[in-house]
Amino acid sequence: TSETSELVLKDQFPGLAGNWHYLDTAATSQKPQVVIDATVAAMGEKYATVHRGVYARSADMTLAFEAARRRVAAFMNAQEDEIVFTRGATESINLVAQSWAATNLKAGDRILLSTLEHHSNIVPWQLLRNGVEIDVCPLTPEGTIDLEAAERMLTPAHKLVAFAHVSNVLGSVLHVEHAARLAHAVGAKLLIDGCQAAPRLALDVQAFDCDFYAFSAHKLYGPTGIGVLWARKALLDQMPPWQGGGSMIDKVTFAETTYAPAPQRFEAGTPNIVEAVGMAAAMDWLSDIGLDRAEKHERDLAGLLRAELRKRNDVTLFGPDDSLGIVSFALEGVHPHDLGTILDEEGVAIRAGHHCAQPLMEHLGVPATARASFGLYSDEQDIEALLKGIERTRRIFG
Ligand code: PMP
Repeated sequence: TSETSELVLKDQFPGLAGNWHYLDTAATSQKPQVVIDATVAAMGEKYATVHRGVYARSADMTLAFEAARRRVAAFMNAQEDEIVFTRGATESINLVAQSWAATNLKAGDRILLSTLEHHSNIVPWQLLRNGVEIDVCPLTPEGTIDLEAAERMLTPAHKLVAFAHVSNVLGSVLHVEHAARLAHAVGAKLLIDGCQAAPRLALDVQAFDCDFYAFSAHKLYGPTGIGVLWARKALLDQMPPWQGGGSMIDKVTFAETTYAPAPQRFEAGTPNIVEAVGMAAAMDWLSDIGLDRAEKHERDLAGLLRAELRKRNDVTLFGPDDSLGIVSFALEGVHPHDLGTILDEEGVAIRAGHHCAQPLMEHLGVPATARASFGLYSDEQDIEALLKGIERTRRIFG
């Protein structure tokens, strides 16, 4: 369509040179040159530490670092003192588990997860040692989290509901506001794993009315090694520190140590300065394009691929028809890894495996799926190359 071709941005991405059909954006996105440039400058002529130096370079870097925090806040309609920089979504969720859940939850309390969660929204809760029980909300036949089932399952013993906003396997989208109403009706908090949503949907934590929101920059056209935990300031203020070190303290003595206010209290050690600047550049870039256009692009491409795959009687599609940018499928009689290997010879990169969602694989009754996932740089030629590669695989396997 003309709208999808409007977004052909491949020449901004050095990682896509050489007619490579990169369909693994759900694992990590390629980086536009503006993000690379911002990162290189932050590591080069602008480099210094933050919050400590009295010299001008450090003061400038501190301004850039705190501007990045404001950039993130604007990106998700939050306040800047509600933005905690973490190493990524995984660390954000572990932070909530180790700080909030480890101190606020007790034996007999329950957490509601769903069948489609990524391991990083399962294992941190299993690591809790306070006798908390985990329940698993089932999916609808289409592959979205079944909120009617959630409503039936939730009880006053539930203190937390933790759901993915967009499934990294099925591309299905959660109605966050609805989930928030259900969680709050029983007095539970709602944590949203926004890893796959942040690059594809406009974020508005005020409208979502969730309590925690986590995502990684590297899936959002930004650098690896940095991510975000958002929580309401009042909630962050109640949470104890989880990692100790420099920058997170108010005063240290051997008799007693007091801590900095949030968000600094959760950022022990020298932060990911370069990465924070890179993440802000990525958000500028993405916001200039517009999240509404990103969402449409991702829906159009996923819809197009699903329509093409549906024409084949040897393909099983997983997930809902209106999946967002992510399409999982199986080619009859071919292991996803074999498909992925043959596609690689054709210059097409897909993901084959369990996608860190083993309980979902068990639910789907497969050991693995093939997954094609799109980014803003993806286009119809990528889909054509994938379909050609599937056809060649069919000829090889008979
Ligand atoms: N949740 C979802 C839905 C994801 O797709 C991912 C990344 N595959 C994660 C969490 C974990 O993100 P990270 O590895 O960047 O911490």
